[in-house]
Amino acid sequence: MSSFNFDVITLFPKAFELFNNLGVITRASDKHLIKVNLYDLREYGEGSYRKVDDKPYGGGSGMVLKPEPIYKAHDSINKLSNNKTLLMTPQGKVMQQKDLIRWSSLDQLIIICGQYEGFDERVRYLADEEISIGDYVLSGGEIPAISIINGVTRLLPGALGDPDSLVDESHNSSLLEYPQYTRPQVFSNMKVPDVLTKGNHKEIELWREEQRLKRTFKRRKDLIKSEFSDLPINEYEVDDWLWDL
Ligand code: SAH
Repeated sequence: MSSFNFDVITLFPKAFELFNNLGVITRASDKHLIKVNLYDLREYGEGSYRKVDDKPYGGGSGMVLKPEPIYKAHDSINKLSNNKTLLMTPQGKVMQQKDLIRWSSLDQLIIICGQYEGFDERVRYLADEEISIGDYVLSGGEIPAISIINGVTRLLPGALGDPDSLVDESHNSSLLEYPQYTRPQVFSNMKVPDVLTKGNHKEIELWREEQRLKRTFKRRKDLIKSEFSDLPINEYEVDDWLWDL
């Protein structure tokens, strides 16, 4: 099987050295499940100063990444048949677990990281998808890109020691994960719930399902509501239903 390719266009390739110290990513690279190729935007810059940014037309603060170096870098990437280009921007669609799952069946993700005030509007035409990792602004697209590489890699077959750990976890099926405990049974007067230590698998399963619903209801009602958004019932009916849990 060929590796999943991540091709990242960035002004700060050094930011990705962090990878060498992240367990799942290192293991996946060693097993040739993934290949991360970095394209230093500076090398595609213009003139002897390798200029990559300029002042915004119309005035305003900060610098904007020029389009030519990003297009040149993107052109230089060897495209595999099943690829997508993602542009990192706080104006994009907010990434969810289902996006990572969708991308994990591709062969290649090309990721463009912005910096400074962002990029020239014409860079958007390179993107198949514009992606935000949340409603806040970071100084560059490197941390969002690292999040995507990390989140996709752990979904690739063979990346996790125990593939079952993907099944129950938060954001699969719109619910958060149930509470997890490990030894000791009593810690600082806090006791592991009895049901988990009695070995009745049916009861454990029921308890976990109930905890997932309760926990999601308490912390992320929006996730449960979004499950109902396609049904012909209104928000108040969903609220009533949730109160009965
Ligand atoms: N002025 C821009 C923000 C620039 S932040 C605006 O208002 O839209 C600089 C760069 O950091 C962006 O180009 C983007 O690549 C990255 N970035 C910042 N926050 C991000 C987020 N929440 N998700 C994805 N990328 C982000």
